[in-house]
Amino acid sequence: MPEPLTSPFRAAAHAAADLVADYLAAVPERPVWQPMAPAARERLLAAALPQSGRELTELLRTIEAEVLPAPMGNGHPRFFGWVNSAPAPAGVLATLAAAAMNPSSAGGDHADVHLERTVVRWLAELVGFPHRVGAGLLTSGTSMATIVCLAAARGRAAARLGHDVRADGLAGLPPLVGYLSAETHSCVRKAAELLGLGSRQLRVVAGDAEGRLDPVALRAAIAADRAAGRVPFLVVASAGTVNTGAVDAFEPLADLCAEQGLWLHVDGAYGAFGVLDPALAPRYAGLARADSLALDPHKWLGVPVDCGCALVRDGEQLRETFSLVPAYLRDEAGDGLGWYSEYGIEQTRPFRALKVWATIAHRGRSGLAADIAHCTRLARRLGELVAADPELELLAPVETSIVAFRARPAGLGATGLNALNQALPAAVQRRGRAFVTGTVLAGREALRACLLNAATTEADLTVLLDEVRAAAGDLTTRQ
Ligand SMILES: *Cc1c(COP(=O)(O)O)cnc(C)c1O
Repeated sequence: MPEPLTSPFRAAAHAAADLVADYLAAVPERPVWQPMAPAARERLLAAALPQSGRELTELLRTIEAEVLPAPMGNGHPRFFGWVNSAPAPAGVLATLAAAAMNPSSAGGDHADVHLERTVVRWLAELVGFPHRVGAGLLTSGTSMATIVCLAAARGRAAARLGHDVRADGLAGLPPLVGYLSAETHSCVRKAAELLGLGSRQLRVVAGDAEGRLDPVALRAAIAADRAAGRVPFLVVASAGTVNTGAVDAFEPLADLCAEQGLWLHVDGAYGAFGVLDPALAPRYAGLARADSLALDPHKWLGVPVDCGCALVRDGEQLRETFSLVPAYLRDEAGDGLGWYSEYGIEQTRPFRALKVWATIAHRGRSGLAADIAHCTRLARRLGELVAADPELELLAPVETSIVAFRARPAGLGATGLNALNQALPAAVQRRGRAFVTGTVLAGREALRACLLNAATTEADLTVLLDEVRAAAGDLTTRQ
C-alpha cells in the first residue's frame, strides 16, 4: 500500500516554508548576482532523467543546494536591471495555495474564475481605467496582453471595412497601419507581425522635445497614409517606456484617435502603476480614454511571475475576436459572460488571480501607492546624484522610476565613451554588489537603473554609483 500522501507532504511543506523564508531573509546579505560556477551549471544541464523517484525532503535538499544559490538577482534591494521586481511575500504564499487547488481558470463556477473577475476590476481601479465586467483578463504578461488587444483592434478595423478577418484573414484588405514611437517596446512589433499586419505597416512617429509621441507628426503621418490608400487604425502610446520611463501625453492622442476613428492602445506594462503616486498622477491624464491597456502586475506590483493583464474599453470586442461559441449558446454560464477562453488565446489557464489578490490585499491601495512613491522618490534622488557628479551624465529626465545615465570620465571621445558604457553593465554585475543593465539612447550606450523594490534605500543608490565609478575606473585603466 502506498503511504498516505498527507503526512510526508505536511512535513516537507513545513520544511519548504522554512527554506523559502530563510532564502528570502538572506537575499539582501548575498551578492546580488554571480556567474554560476561551471560545475554547478553543468549539474543542472546534464542531470539524467531519474529512473526511480526520490522523497520530497530529498528534493528540497537539491533545491537548497543546487537552485536557490543561483538566483537571477531580482529580489535584492540593489538589483536595478531590466524591469524585474522582488516577489511580494503574499504572492509567494498564494502561489503555493493556487498550485494546491490547480484549477484551469478557463471558466466554470469555482473560486478562481470569480476571483479573476475581481482582481481584473481592482487592477483597472488602481490605474483609473474604466471597467465593465468582462472587459479584461489576466495573461502571461504584456507581450500576450498586447496580442490580445491588438487582435481586437484589428478585428474592429476590418469589420469597419465590411471584412471578416477571422474568416478571411487579411487577404483583400488594404494595408492596416499602426503608429508608435521609437521607444515603443518590441512586443508591439512582435504582435503586429504575428497578427499578419506586417512590421512594414508600423510607422515610427517622431517624438516631441521630451520624446513623447507628437500629435502633430502623428496627424501628418495618418494623412499621408490615407492619401496613399492605406487604412490607419491603431496608435500605440506608452505609460512608461523601458529605456527612460517616459509617459506619453494621452489627452491629445485620445483626441486625435477619436477624431480619426483609430484604436488607442496604451502599453502600461512597466509604468501604468506609477499613476498611484500623487506626484506623478497628472502625467497620466487621458489614460482612461484608451481603447485598450496592457499591464504587468508582475512588474511594479511584485506579483510573482507570470502575470499580465489586458483591459479593453469594450469586452464584446474581445469576445468578437476570440469566441468560438456561437452567439446563441453564449449565455450558458448564467452571468452572460462565458469562459475566459472566449476572450483570449489560452484554453487551460493558471490560477493567476490568487497571487494578484494576495499582493493587493496585503498592501492595500495605500500601501502600494506608498511603495511606488518610494521608488519614484529614490529614482529622482538617483537622478540628482548622477547630475551632481561630473564623471557621470544623466541622459533623460527622470519621469517615473527609471534612470538612464552613463559614465563620462574626462578625456574620452564619443567612441571611447560608447565602448566604456557598453562594457560597464557586465562589469558592474560581475562585482556582485549592484546589478544594472544597459541600453542605447539616441546612439549613445547607456546604463539604466529601474527602481521597483520598496526595500531599496538611499544607501543602496550610493553603493550603485560607487560600483559604477569603480567598474568604470577598472575599465579605463585597462584600455
Ligand atoms: C516588460 C514590458 C513589456 C513586455 O511585457 P512581458 O510581461 O515581458 O511580456 C512590454 N512593454 C513594456 C514597457 C515593458 O516594460
